[in-house]
Amino acid sequence: MYKAKAYAASSAKAPFASSTIQRRDPGENDVQLEILFCGVCHSDLHQARDEWHDFFATVYPCVPGHEIVGRVARAGKGVKKFKPGDLAAVGCLVDSDRTCPECKAGFEQFCNNMVLTYNSPDKHQAAPVTYGGYSDSVVVDERFVLRVPSNLNLAGAAPLLCAGITTYSPMKHWGVGKGKKVGVVGLGGLGHMGLKLAHALGAHVVAFTTSPGKKEDALRLGADEVVVSTNSNEMQKHAGSFNFILDCVSAQHDINAYLALLARDGNVTLVGAPEKPLPVAAFNLIFGRKSLSGSPIGGIAETQEMLDFCGKHNITADVEVIPIQKVNEAYERLLKSDVKYRFSIDMASLKSE
Ligand SMILES: [Zn+2]
Ligand SMILES: [Zn+2]
Repeated sequence: MYKAKAYAASSAKAPFASSTIQRRDPGENDVQLEILFCGVCHSDLHQARDEWHDFFATVYPCVPGHEIVGRVARAGKGVKKFKPGDLAAVGCLVDSDRTCPECKAGFEQFCNNMVLTYNSPDKHQAAPVTYGGYSDSVVVDERFVLRVPSNLNLAGAAPLLCAGITTYSPMKHWGVGKGKKVGVVGLGGLGHMGLKLAHALGAHVVAFTTSPGKKEDALRLGADEVVVSTNSNEMQKHAGSFNFILDCVSAQHDINAYLALLARDGNVTLVGAPEKPLPVAAFNLIFGRKSLSGSPIGGIAETQEMLDFCGKHNITADVEVIPIQKVNEAYERLLKSDVKYRFSIDMASLKSE
């Protein structure tokens, strides 16, 4: 075991502070990454503040971060994919049982025994729970470590590991591509990735936003058209025309307004998670055989596919790079959606702690 530097929250009410944590030394199949950048995901905030207490209580100290890009520092003897010096990334998962039907099908994100990158029981027992990327290093089995295309800006690549795969996976599943009309609802961390990826996949992309002021940005990010969702005339013009709509909104909103925009067999997929149940009018689904789904991240193979796709199309997140010392301030700004469109922590800043 060794000591790693980290920024940790010691309780639900405590701000992040400089700390040290125990990490395991890399075993036979492990890769140790020196972390270069880590994105700040809204889940980090929920988890650090124990806002999911009822179904996923936070164990303290809590070190969040599951949008990790780094460089391989050490690799175990059995490691085949990586050597020291390689760029590498870690997303939301660091292990699974590898034997269940979901794992065998490449859907580690649905494995009942998956190990999340932070706040999951640590089966290596270096610590009570796993610790994430707000740290100078991490040790992960190579099966859960991704390759990073060398052309990508690394600060902007970090958010691909959660925001990128969360939007890419449902779009691939529902056949987003050339000849398809695709909507993206909400223009935040997830939505801005949705626009970039849907555009690169070749779809006709329509951005839905409540803020007319975001129109220029949505067009720049890849939208062919922008609809202000509070304008019912504008919404009505698109009735019955969408093959797929990616709903990235985590606040309460009227899902029926979007179901009405679907064409036959169209689908709305939720990737945002409003706190309270969303009412759905059954006839909005029955007529046109429409469907409503949800989707979390993606499997390891698909996450690699997404990174390679982003390498080919030179896609990264739009980020505001911050030093780790600004992470508490960044959380306050995140609550106000005051970021375009993701914070990415430059982990070199941790060296001075
Ligand atoms: Zn996330
Ligand atoms: Zn499994």
